[in-house]
This record gives sequence, structure tokens and C-alpha cells, in this order.
Amino acid sequence: GWDTREPDKLVDTHCCFCGVQCGITLKVKENRVIGFEPREDFPVNEGKLCPKGVKRYMQNEHPDRLKSPLIADPLTGFRKASWDEAYSKTVDEINRIQAKYGKDSFAFLGGASMTNEKAYLNGKFARIALQTANIDYNGRLCMVSAGAANKIAFGIDRAASPWEDIPKAKVIILAGTNLAECFPVLTKFIWKARDNGAKIIVIDPRVTPIARTADLYLPVKPGRDSALANGILHQLIKNNWTDEGFLANHTDGWEQVAETVEKYTPEYTEKITGVPAASIIKAGELWGPPETSMLLHARGIEHHTKGVENVLSYMNLVLATGRIGREGCGYGAITGQGNGQGGREHGQRCNQLPGGRDINNKDHREHIANFWGVEESSLPYEGLTACEIIDAIEEGKIKGLLSISFNPLVSIPDSNRTRKALEKLEYFGCIDFFMNETARYADVVMAGSLQEEDEGTVTTGEGRCVKLNQSVTPPGDAKADWKIICDLAERLGKKDYFDYTGPGQIFDELARASAGGVNDYSGMSWERIEQENGVFWPCKGESHPGTPRLFEDKKFYTPNGKAQMKGFEYRPPAEDVDAEYPIIFTTGRVVSQYLSGTQTRRIGSLVDQYPEPLCELHPMLADHLGIQDGDILKVSSRRGHIILPAQVVKTIRPDTVFIPYHWADKKAANQLTNRELDPTSKIPEFKVCACKVEKIEDA
Ligand code: SF4
Repeated sequence: GWDTREPDKLVDTHCCFCGVQCGITLKVKENRVIGFEPREDFPVNEGKLCPKGVKRYMQNEHPDRLKSPLIADPLTGFRKASWDEAYSKTVDEINRIQAKYGKDSFAFLGGASMTNEKAYLNGKFARIALQTANIDYNGRLCMVSAGAANKIAFGIDRAASPWEDIPKAKVIILAGTNLAECFPVLTKFIWKARDNGAKIIVIDPRVTPIARTADLYLPVKPGRDSALANGILHQLIKNNWTDEGFLANHTDGWEQVAETVEKYTPEYTEKITGVPAASIIKAGELWGPPETSMLLHARGIEHHTKGVENVLSYMNLVLATGRIGREGCGYGAITGQGNGQGGREHGQRCNQLPGGRDINNKDHREHIANFWGVEESSLPYEGLTACEIIDAIEEGKIKGLLSISFNPLVSIPDSNRTRKALEKLEYFGCIDFFMNETARYADVVMAGSLQEEDEGTVTTGEGRCVKLNQSVTPPGDAKADWKIICDLAERLGKKDYFDYTGPGQIFDELARASAGGVNDYSGMSWERIEQENGVFWPCKGESHPGTPRLFEDKKFYTPNGKAQMKGFEYRPPAEDVDAEYPIIFTTGRVVSQYLSGTQTRRIGSLVDQYPEPLCELHPMLADHLGIQDGDILKVSSRRGHIILPAQVVKTIRPDTVFIPYHWADKKAANQLTNRELDPTSKIPEFKVCACKVEKIEDA
């Protein structure tokens, strides 16, 4: 239970378990968080928190918390070590491996739950201290299809509107977002919209909690998303619900889009998607006539080998009706990772430099090289993405890895392959605050910091940069992550570039580095962010108000200022069902868990809510297979199998089974998933592959 004594201090900060970033006040006594209150003054949550936010701080004093560096030991597994020993071993191995195999043979993996300051630092460390091209981050498993589609269509990777526009919309599409479980507090904006008369359309293979109250639910077959978007657009064109003036003046590509969707009649679309033709017609009727609308989407449409195509196909619904750049209109991707937005903006992606700049663009490279005071020629070009890095390790091309706040053994598809890769590394260093499943394969584990043990900023899913404040110091010998990175850089001979007094100085540098880029934070300071309860980027100078709503002047960030539209023919998933694997497998989240579970599997009351993964299947499929609720099942794909109990529910398509992915080893849904990548975003196809389900008779 909570300590009810009077706290020494109250610290205003944010819950970092999803991109809503609810405001929370922590009660701190004797360097411990002893309680909390939700913040009424933060306009997004207005005093509300979900179960994860309420329980988040119960992990802080878990006995597994790492308090010192550890070094792998053949007899005991790991032994305690000094920082000097941990740093020396890491730097010696970086130098040895890079001297023997080349700079790019050492890779870096970062995280999108980390602050903007750490994302910036990770990118700078990889390019200047490691001089490797191979840096990427776990947002590659999360937001990159949305990001790539936004860049293609609008030239900027951000939600078009602040969330306060949601209640002003008269129709809302929620495409592939289990919003109430993954982004819980945002549902209040949906309910407000409904109170204002909005119609809610939910598109998902599962009747998720948000779908249960929708006006229209479209049970799309996994992997058929672009076909459904095409089918709805076909209805808009047929009924003259498109905005021809907007399309002519502010977009390119409309003719090709209209041609593409011509054959997506309700009957044709039903055949592909499994959504009844009458529901497709109804979706057109709801989306077509209103003056205002909002499209919100998430991994359900993005986690595909056609993830970028899917997002662009849904964007066509927004653009065809011209409902963007004004009150109550727009689109937004739901960011399940705490800093899913900011984590992808400041240079820790393999193709990106600070300010959202392109690492292959000569001008961008020169700008950042000058800013950092290095030769442009010393900056690496685009390297491998997260899954490609794991593959390159498995293929013996990458020999060393430093990873921070990333648990690829749980979070990357085909975990058996990831395990084989980790076993091949000549050196593996991990920075984390718990011994996650991946860290068990490390040579050195460096005890880093939990969110409330450090300070910095994060950027919410609506593009608002908010400030996290430090409540307590790291326990024992654990260190702030930024300090570990800077210490390593110093030992690699690059102290001059990493001589920071703290994250405040890193933020100031990040903001200056971003000036002139699309992701411009140059008008922000920590003081301003706190005073204004967050600032929306782009914010180009101290007197700039920030930009809650994009495109109000109907100018897009593309070279000719027009939104770029493109239509896509439906193509099947990389692995479709067949006689051997006849059932569709899909995965996702439950409300009580966060990402790979490193934190939430250590919070008892969250574990109690959903203690182990269950295989959801429809009663019709269960009957067909002779399965009853609670039976023990073996679920197999071409890549592996897991054994777990059945949960027979009517809230899933009869041709599909669902298993949440937060667990490890023999309970890991990612033993089954397919690591085929989207060619543009390089996101894996988590959301659809083929499986078979068998009851284990003697369980
Ligand atoms: Fe935390 Fe998100 Fe829940 Fe808010 S909605 S309390 S940010 S997990």
C-alpha cells in the first residue's frame, strides 16, 4: 500500500506509459515516490489516469531493480562490477570490433520510451562516438508506417490536429486502434464527440472495448485494410461526397486514386475484407456528408508489409473530403509508446539527423556536421533498421551491439531467430533498469535510470512537447542514462562533443539543432514548456506560438505545397493461410501491460488483471476444433509454437486468433509472428500471419 505520511515534496510530471502523457503529481519522501495525484491542470487528462498510470510507480522499488553494473560470469551468470570495469570492457570491445571488422560492425539500438534528449544523444553518440551507420530504435516496431506515410502525403510526420479537435468532429473513424486499452485516457475525447452528436466507426478484426460502443463496427479481415479504405472511398465518389475544389487546388494524384478505387464496389470489397457490403455503404454514408471528421489509426493498419500503403489509403478519405487544416478535422496516429512521437524526431533513426533531417541529403548533412563541429564526410549515411540489424547479427555481418531500453527478444517477430542472433554477438552491452530478457544475453549490463530518476521532455501523440521532472535519484550505483552515454563517449575520445552538465543543456542543443528543420523546436525552452503546459512543434523561435493545428493555410510541407495522394490495389499479406496453417494469427496489447512487459510484468496488481497470455478464439472456431474455454492449446506458425490457455470469446472474427505479445520465452507471441518488412517503413508484419491451433489432450 501507499505510504500515507506527509510528502517532502510534490513533483509535477507525466505518466510515460503511452503517448497521451497524462499529467501526474508524484509525492516524494526521503528520496522515494510514496504516492501520486492525477493532475487536474494538465488539459489532456484533466485529473484522469488509466490503470497503468495509477500503478506505474509500484515498480520503482522492485527487488529486480538494477543498482550497479553487471558483467557476465561463466559460473554465476552475472557478477557486480564497478563502472570503471563496465566502461573499460565496453570501450575495449567497441575499439577491438571496429578495428577488426569496420565501424559499421558495431550497432546501436535505442528506444522510443526515452526522452527527446536521450533520442538526440543516442543519434549523436552513434554518429560521432561510434561512427556507425547502424543505429535504429524500437519505434521501428511501432510508428514508422504512419511516419513514412505522413512524410509522403504531407511532408511532415505529425498528427494534423490537437486532440481538442476530436470532440468537434461529426464523424470519427478509428482504424486498427484498440484505443481504450492502449491509449485509455484519450477515450474521453471520443465520448465528448459522441455527446456532441458524432458518429463513431470502428474498424478492427476484434470487437475491442471501444468498438463495443461504436455506431458502426467493421470487422475487417487482418491484412485487408487498404481494400476497405478503397471500398469506402468508392462510396464517397459514387455519391459525390468528395471536395473537388480542395482536391484540384491542394492535392496531386487524385485521378490515379479515383481510378484505383473504381472497382472497389461494396460486393468486391466484401469479398476481400469480409466486411458486409451493407456496412461499407453505411461507412460511406456516415463519413461522406458531414463538414468535419477525424481519422485516428494505429498499429492495426500499420503493422503490415503494406503498412505505408494502408495509411495512405486511409489518408485518401481525409483528403478526398478536404477535411484537414481546420477546426474539428484531421488525422492522427495513436502512439502506444510513451515517446512514440518525439522518439522518432531527433536523430536516433538510421535514416535521420536532428530536426527530422534526412541523413542522405547533402545539405542536411552539412548543416548538422557544421552544427556539431565535425566533417560532413565523417557522418555515416543511412544504415540498417532495427530488424535488419538483428538479421545482420544473425548473418555475422554485425559483431557488436549496444542497446538501451530495448527488449528485442520479446518485441521483434520470430524470437527464435532473434535469440540465435544474440548468441552470435562477440560483444553485447545493455543499458536498462531491469534485467530484461534480452539483457540476459549481454556481456555487460549497465544500470540506467527509470523515468522519475531523471528529467527531460517527451512529445505526445498530438505533437505537444511536455516536461518530465525528476522526483528521486537513481538507486545504488545506477546512473542517469544520459550520463552513461556521455561517459562512454568520453572514453571513446569524444568528450568535447558530449560535455554536458545535464539534460537541460542537451535540450537546448537539440532545440538549436532542429532550427530550420521540419521538426523545429527552436522556440522551446524547458521553462516555456512548463509555463505553457506543453508546446506544439513546429515552434520556430521564442515569439512563435507553436502549432497545435497544421495546414491551416492549406499549405503542406511537400516541395510544391500540395498533399500527395496515391491509390493502392489490394495485395495479400506476406503469409496467407493455407491447408497446413489455416487460421489467421494476430497480436496486440492488453490494458494492464506496456510493450515488452519489462516494467508492467513487475507490477503485481497489473499482473493480477491479466496474469498470462491467453489465445482468444471465436466459439465457432472453438467448436470446429473441439476446444473449450480454458483448454490448453498449442499455437504454431512456420517459425515456432507456444502453449497457452484458450479464451473463447465472441469478440473476434471466427477465422482469426489473437494473443497479446507482452510476455517472453515460451509465452512469447512473437515466437509465431512474421518478420517480413514493409519495403518503405521497414516495419514487420506483426498483425497477420498463418497459424494452426491444436488442443493438447493430456495437458
Ligand atoms: Fe499513462 Fe497513457 Fe494511462 Fe495516461 S492513458 S495514465 S499516459 S498509460
